[in-house]
Amino acid sequence: MIRNLIGSEWRLPAQDARSLPVYNPATAEVIEHVPLSDAREVDAAVRAAAETFGAWSRTAVMDRVRLMFRFKALLEDHFEELAALVTRHHGKTLDEARGEVRRGIEVVDFACGAPTLLQGRTLRDVSGGVDQDLYRYPVGVCAGIPPFNFPVMIPLWMFPLAVVAGNTFILKPSDRTPLGGARLAELFLEAGFPPGVLNVIHGAAGTVDALLEHPGISAISFVGSAPVAQHVYTEAAAHGKRVQALGGAKNHIVVMPDADPAVAVPAILNSAFGNAGERCLSGSVAVAVGSAADVLLDPLRDAATKLVVGPGDQEGVQVGPLIRAEHRDRVAAYVATGVAEGAELVVDGRREMSRRGFFLGPTILDRVTSQMSVGREEIFGPVLSIARAATLDDAIAQANASALGNMATIFTQSGRAGREFRERVEAGMAGINVPIAQPFAFFPFSGWKGSFFGDLHVHGMDGVEFYTRKKVVVTRW
Ligand code: NAD
Repeated sequence: MIRNLIGSEWRLPAQDARSLPVYNPATAEVIEHVPLSDAREVDAAVRAAAETFGAWSRTAVMDRVRLMFRFKALLEDHFEELAALVTRHHGKTLDEARGEVRRGIEVVDFACGAPTLLQGRTLRDVSGGVDQDLYRYPVGVCAGIPPFNFPVMIPLWMFPLAVVAGNTFILKPSDRTPLGGARLAELFLEAGFPPGVLNVIHGAAGTVDALLEHPGISAISFVGSAPVAQHVYTEAAAHGKRVQALGGAKNHIVVMPDADPAVAVPAILNSAFGNAGERCLSGSVAVAVGSAADVLLDPLRDAATKLVVGPGDQEGVQVGPLIRAEHRDRVAAYVATGVAEGAELVVDGRREMSRRGFFLGPTILDRVTSQMSVGREEIFGPVLSIARAATLDDAIAQANASALGNMATIFTQSGRAGREFRERVEAGMAGINVPIAQPFAFFPFSGWKGSFFGDLHVHGMDGVEFYTRKKVVVTRW
């Protein structure tokens, strides 16, 4: 059983605590159990974090950052081990896991800039003999609730920036991929951070609700599905907390007739099938404008059929398993519904379902419309829908018809089309000739519309704003 970290103590919840199995999705074997902590455990974690907050928030920024540099060095030392851990309990390929760990470490790099990031502002002689100074203060005890699909990267979006700003933190890792957060916490303690600065509490919905309701928590960072993001936003706000809640996605890839197929085809495959489609930045619907479909369809079909499906730790594998059998079956049900709704099945990955483990291969549906559930709802699996549009206007309208607005990207050789798309597409992250428009750590990450509930996005200066509150001091001597 994985243990919670409360202060300096790795401990199991009370004896009556229920637990869930943690799987290796490539083999369907149970490799661990994760406890479902209740309100008492949450309260113990909040007390540990609150007791540490006073001293930690007054620790000099340079001392906080020195520890963060040590944590960063440990993450580099354990880079391969962390990637293997991600593959083992999430299923993605080792290369994808390495990419995840690297993007997570980049947020730690960013957090190491705290002496610059946390600076305030000043204006002398705002009126005769009066000065005004703006200082940033930590907000208190913060909590982070990541999803299953990036067990190392998404926790690193949250706590490094929070703690360099002087907050203390409670991480509630995903109940399906809890090992990443647990290992990060071990390395964090090894770096020398005082006990109580980072606490880890395992569990699922009940544990999250206890965090949302606890009066000792000031801020909640959430990343997960849209319905849960909305619930977290509403409940946390009702309990007086600041919240950033990033939700689900239904991302469109617009392909103009002038796009270079040698660029667009591999990019679409990467976007739709990388991470087995379990990515909030995955391209889900490719909208082919005009004659683009004629050029794309055959190469996409041929290349998707050749992608190697298998356990993520095997050399040469390009598409790993899905997270759970139930999720794989849900994705397979979407494929059947798409066909029933009139889509044409071009590549059927359901043949991979007979393997041991939770596999479903790359699947392509053609002639999908935004009226079909496959064209409208988040599938979160390796299913690419192809839709047709007569013009760029039509393609942008199709993307904007989605209730979600996480990412959208366009492939074109026309600067005018690219600019038009950038200006009019309703998504928080937009790409031009890139498969995945992921902002680097020093820019904010988040979607728009139903993909995001809150004001301040994660990392970048938005992250600094989220984890600090401002005090303005007016002085006359
Ligand atoms: P999820 O919403 O099921 O779970 C997210 C977290 O909330 C987990 O820690 C889980 O334990 C907890 N949780 C689950 N159900 C809950 C409930 N009813 N009440 C309170 N807490 C609950 O999401 P997931 O399946 O782990 O992750 C996949 C989803 O996350 C997809 O929809 C994906 O698009 C989204 N996602 C979004 C982003 C983004 O940046 N917008 C990034 C990654 C993933």
